[in-house]
Amino acid sequence: MYFDTVVAGGSVAGLLCAREIAAGGFSVLVIEEDYEIGTPEHCGGLVSIAGLEELGIIPFRKTFDHQIESAEVCAPNNNCFTINSKKQKVVEISRRELDKQIAFQAQKNGAQIKVRTSFQEITDSGIRTNEENVDCKIFVDARGVSSLIHKDRTGILSSAQYEIYADWIKKGKVEVIFDQEKYPGFFAWVIPSGEGKGKVGVAGRGIKVAETLENFLNEKGEYSTIRKIFAPIWIKGPISKFVEGKTIIIGDAAGQAKPTTAGGIFTSGMGGVYAGQAIVKFLKTNNESELEEYQKRWTERFGKEFEKQVFARKILERLDNQTINKLFESITPEIIRDISEKDDFDFHTGSIVKLLGMKGSIKTAQALIGGELKKLLS
Ligand SMILES: Cc1cc2nc3c(=O)[nH]c(=O)nc-3n(C[C@H](O)[C@H](O)[C@H](O)COP(=O)(O)OP(=O)(O)OC[C@H]3O[C@@H](n4cnc5c(N)ncnc54)[C@H](O)[C@@H]3O)c2cc1C
Repeated sequence: MYFDTVVAGGSVAGLLCAREIAAGGFSVLVIEEDYEIGTPEHCGGLVSIAGLEELGIIPFRKTFDHQIESAEVCAPNNNCFTINSKKQKVVEISRRELDKQIAFQAQKNGAQIKVRTSFQEITDSGIRTNEENVDCKIFVDARGVSSLIHKDRTGILSSAQYEIYADWIKKGKVEVIFDQEKYPGFFAWVIPSGEGKGKVGVAGRGIKVAETLENFLNEKGEYSTIRKIFAPIWIKGPISKFVEGKTIIIGDAAGQAKPTTAGGIFTSGMGGVYAGQAIVKFLKTNNESELEEYQKRWTERFGKEFEKQVFARKILERLDNQTINKLFESITPEIIRDISEKDDFDFHTGSIVKLLGMKGSIKTAQALIGGELKKLLS
């Protein structure tokens, strides 16, 4: 069996990559080891409308759940502020449906998709799956964080996310809770999928995520659990090489999820789009430098923002609860209004700078976080 390209991983990055390759007129096979595209869903489903549009997706009715109106952000001492996020046009979508929608786009363009088929290894002429050998010119690794676990464990945090029903979940209102003792280096989150239902999760360095999440839920109030997922997240930013000979690494497998929140529908998805377009150019010309264009394009678009997010993360990892409480106290209604008016969900380090009060009170921030501050401000 021969395909111009084989993609391992039938999720957002792999399917978008296949869609682009098939649109360019080349043969492409996507193999997905799970038994269904979009399942098991391991995602909060938050994404900007602008991001979806750039990925070339107009969400079907089934895919689109609802628009997020506000985000409540809380300090360890429960001092919270609320950002009005209407202008950012962020929606909560069903990943089960979104991934199927992209699979449908890819199929319409001529891609082939096989589930319950897993990539095993690269061979001299292509790859070996659990079923057979497949010859190909290009192999795309879109296996998500599982591909990174073997390369570098230091950028991985454990996360737990439960889908629950609970009266205290309010439609349209996301919650983010910082507490360095409970969720070191990360946070707890509540993402509604409607009134009284949603996805609640925690991540952090060296914590027992199930126990931590259950403690969080018990403090919040009554709830019923509908589904539990445990998944690693990658928070170290892009790997150094996206292209290794005829192997192209895309999406979370290439570290393309945001280092601050591990959100990657848009940024990992764009990795798939750029890689697919570069592979088409390579297949037309046989010029290997075309493949390198993929990394250049992704880095031009997201490189600077991701560098800043890595620094923002380093800062967070150094702050203790007392310092976070103090920083929250210095957040003024003007700062919140400014963020509500101007924040960009996909490029959000500008808002982090404002929240840390750095522009206004450089001295305090400098004392807290030293030299890395300059890099975040640059
Ligand atoms: C708890 C949680 C919440 C999140 N919330 C958000 C959010 O709200 N917004 C957001 O933008 N992002 C969020 N993300 C991140 C988002 O889910 C990922 O960035 C995105 O799914 C990355 O897409 P991907 O295609 O690169 O990889 P993945 O979605 O991880 O897909 C990899 C695919 O490869 C398959 N695979 C693995 N090994 C093999 C193999 N050997 N052979 C064949 N197939 C294989 C897997 O089964 C999987 O389908 C969240 C992540 C987690 C864990």
